[in-house]
Formats: sequence, structure tokens, C-alpha cells
Amino acid sequence: MAEITYHSTRDAAREAIPFSQAVVRGIAPDGGLYVPSSFPGLDITDPQLAALDYEGLAEKVLSLLITDFSKEELSSCVHRAYGSGFRHPGVAPIHSCGNVHFIELYHGPTLAFKDMALSILPHVLTTAAGKLGIDDTIVILTATSGDTGKAALEGFADVPGTQIVVFYPTDGVSEVQKRQMTTQEGANTHVVGITGNFDDAQNGVKAIFADGKIRERIARRGYRFSSANSINPGRLLPQIVYYINGYLELVRRNTILPGEKVHVVVPTGNFGNILAAWYARHMGLPVGRFICASNSNNVLTDFMRTGRYSLDRRFSPTISPSMDILISSNLERFLYELADRDPAKVVSLMSDLKNDGVYEIDRTMMKNMADFYGGFADDTATVSAIEELYRTYGYVVDTHTAVGYRVYQDFLRETGDDRPVLLASTASPFKFSRSVAEAVGVPVEGKSDFELIDLLAERCCLDIPAPIRGIADRSIRHPETCKKDEMARVVEELLS
Ligand SMILES: *Cc1c(COP(=O)(O)O)cnc(C)c1O
Repeated sequence: MAEITYHSTRDAAREAIPFSQAVVRGIAPDGGLYVPSSFPGLDITDPQLAALDYEGLAEKVLSLLITDFSKEELSSCVHRAYGSGFRHPGVAPIHSCGNVHFIELYHGPTLAFKDMALSILPHVLTTAAGKLGIDDTIVILTATSGDTGKAALEGFADVPGTQIVVFYPTDGVSEVQKRQMTTQEGANTHVVGITGNFDDAQNGVKAIFADGKIRERIARRGYRFSSANSINPGRLLPQIVYYINGYLELVRRNTILPGEKVHVVVPTGNFGNILAAWYARHMGLPVGRFICASNSNNVLTDFMRTGRYSLDRRFSPTISPSMDILISSNLERFLYELADRDPAKVVSLMSDLKNDGVYEIDRTMMKNMADFYGGFADDTATVSAIEELYRTYGYVVDTHTAVGYRVYQDFLRETGDDRPVLLASTASPFKFSRSVAEAVGVPVEGKSDFELIDLLAERCCLDIPAPIRGIADRSIRHPETCKKDEMARVVEELLS
């Protein structure tokens, strides 16, 4: 088996480090993101592959990419993540509505797709630290637009040798999301609201990571930072698995022939999820087009249509808040591949973005992006997609998934290309109870999001998922808030 190493998207010298080191660092010292030295191939038509269950497939796929872990180490990480933490035996089951096959990625502890990666990351990270002989406490520092924070908190809660600090925009997450985070259990968990939007939170975290002085001060007390954001390669790799699993499930159901191409639709924010699908294709998954769905914060739609990425736009809060972003942090890995792995091009684009708030890719890169289709749906279109799916198929989806469905319909209308589609269903409808309940005809006036959870369940004859049953009555353990320029001070105080 070929050894896979990792290097930074910005490093001309391509300093090669093992996966263990990349996952502990989270982000490269030069500000770039770690990428694998190559993409190992997988024979998707191999019947032995199709015979694997989710755990078996995860072990197989991850063993190709994480070559410095032993088989036992990997299998223990995979088992601790997917062995019992998911409420469905298939972990990420498929629900089909006509040609559209939803991969339900929300059966984990926090009802959102981020559980898929964040349930395994803590085990991968602590295993990696052990292999490197690190005995510092690992401090996970995370900015969240709602779902990452809670999934990271669940994943790391009471994991020995770790502390976790989560910053969220106080007005940028749903009531349910906020309550999920502020009620978090675990002696090593810290949750702080900031006044600002998600990008403010993310920039604040990036600034702390980049500050050598803070790093030195906390190191003297036995701490070191790492990131659970989707820039960490340990977040990205586990996401490749469910696209392959979803594809194999369609093969098992005779919906497609082994080797037949499907399209992939992904409601996109930080570009981690759709990037994982693209990585899966590099490993041999037969994907035709990648449909990148945004909400009204449609910087990616414009980028895909014009090749120009510009921050000169207004930030608008939507009913799909986990996709409310201006700076899509994982895009750098995408640019790196589009540039045929030329770090100089990445460095130049990133400095344009930093200095001028805009960059434009060249013709070659644009050509390399031809399999991507960018589209967006505003809140009205999102609500109508939820209503339509419920009316036509009796299927209830959340607001993010609905954005994906609506953009797919635009794609279908424009191209007439009706191949089977795998659509990443990224959250449970109960997580966004107000918008979903309203879309399916529940009167929402005067009702809290919590009451709407019950009413939505009643209306659509669904069971309320255990993790949010009775959440309104849990006591708040993390009431803290701060200003966006106080984040560094807050972190140091928490660790002192
Ligand atoms: C995080 C998130 C997204 C966006 O995923 P990216 O990997 O950041 O593109 C979409 N939907 C939901 C529900 C999410 O939590």
C-alpha cells in the first residue's frame, strides 16, 4: 500500500508530514491547508467493497488515506465513532424520492451531518497525539455557525487529554442550536457567544491560531491548540466515506449499475462536504457533476459562474444559517487542485483575497472546474422546496437540504440531465423546526421553536429524535458572551 503524506497548499517545498502530525496541527504554519500527497485508488465495481457495512467501508477508505495508523488503531477509532453513536443501523441511510437519493447524514448525536466527522475526529486526534509522544492537553478551538460547535462539543466532551472552546455568533444560530450548545455537559467544554457574525467568529479563531505569543504562553501551562473546523484534514477524510457508501447502496438496490455515473448535490457553506465528494471522485467514485447549492449568501454561485470570488457583498442571515458565509475556508483545497497543485497560484490568489477582497482564477483553472454547477435558493424558494417535497413524497427535509433540492431542480431544468442524484441531507428537520413547520402548514405564530418541534412531529407523524426531546427543560451551563475583539483574552482566561 502506498504511503500517503500531507503537505500545505501554500508550501512550494512540499514539506511532507505524516497524517498524525497534520491532524494535530490542524492548519499549516504558513496558513495553508493540509492535503494528501496523492489520492489512492479504489475499485468501486469490486463486489467485496459493496459487501462492507458502514464501519467496514470507513476502515477500508480511511486506511488508504491514513497510512501511519495501524489497522487496529483505525478500527478502534471507527468503532468508537460509528459503533453505537448513530440512531440508524446503516449510519447514513438513503431515502429516495424519484431520481433523487437523499443521504441522511443526521442520525448522529446532534442531528446534523457534522457528526459524521466529529464523532471520529477526537479519537483520531488523541491517537495521533499519542503516536507523536505529545502529552500536552489538546485545546480544540472552534468557530461555529451552529452545527459544528455542537457536534464538536459532543465529540470531545470528557475525552481525556482535551479541552474544547466553542465560539458562536449570538444572533446567527437558531434557538434550538443555541440551546443545544449552552446546555452541553462535560467538564472540559466551554461555550461562548460573540456579538458579530460567523465570519467574525472564524476570523477571531484564526487570529488566535496565528498568534505565536498566545501559543507560547499556553504551551508553558501544558496546552496546545488544534482545530475541529472543517479545515482540519481529520474532519475532511471521514466525509469521503458516506459518498462511497451512498453510491454502493444504490448499487445494492439495483438503482444503478456498478460504475454508472451519478451526480452529487451538496448544500454548501465552508465547502468541506462537497470537497469530500470531489476527493471521493479522485479515488474512483463515478461522479458526473457536482452541484454546489448556496442560499442568498451566494458567493460560491458567482464564483462558479464567473471564476471571480469577491467579498464585496452584503451578508444576509437566512433560514439555513449553517450556510451563511462569505469566506468559504475549504475552498483553498479546491483551488489547489484546480491549479494542478501549484502552491504559487494558491498563495497569489489568497493574497489577492486578503489585500483586495477579491480574486479571479485563470482559464486553466476555470476549465478544471467544468464539472461544477453553482446555484442558489433564497428563503422563499427554500420554503417552497420543503412544501413541495412534503406534498409530493410525504418526505420532510430541513432548510439546508431544501436549498440543495431547489438548486438541483434548477440544474435539471437548465440541463435536462436526469441521471440519478445523491443529495447530501445535512440536518434533521427538527433542528430548524420553525421554518420547516411553517412550510408544511403548521401555524407558527406565537409558538416557540421548542413547541414547534412537538407540533412538527404531530403534523408529519414523525418521532422526535432523542437528542432534542425535552431540550427546552434542560438547564443552561454556558451563559457566557463576549465581543469579537475579546476572544483571545477569553481563551487565555479559560486556560489559566
Ligand atoms: C455545515 C453545514 C453545511 C455546510 O457544509 P460545508 O461543509 O461547510 O460546506 C450545510 N448544512 C448543514 C446543516 C450544516 O451544518
